[in-house]
Amino acid sequence: MIVCKRCGYENLDNALYCNLCKELFHKKEKMMTIEDLPSEIKSQLLDQKKKAEEKFIISNLFSGVPRKKLLTLAIIIGATIILFLIAFLFSCGK
Ligand SMILES: [Zn+2]
Repeated sequence: MIVCKRCGYENLDNALYCNLCKELFHKKEKMMTIEDLPSEIKSQLLDQKKKAEEKFIISNLFSGVPRKKLLTLAIIIGATIILFLIAFLFSCGK
């Protein structure tokens, strides 16, 4: 629901202008971009962004793909140990 600032009429969410007084709704306010900032703050922000991205990549490296590899490795090692135990038990029984 968009309430008209001019007349107070309640319009639909997707209304582009007030149905009563025809006042235009400027739903998309101008977004402040990084380009609007002073170069000093801009470089700091870009630096932070870069660091955050690096952290993200590193955390992904340690949490994403290798976990599957670790699981497969654990299964292989577990299976080998079990096989060895079975072989050991059979050789003792004889
Ligand atoms: Zn209106």
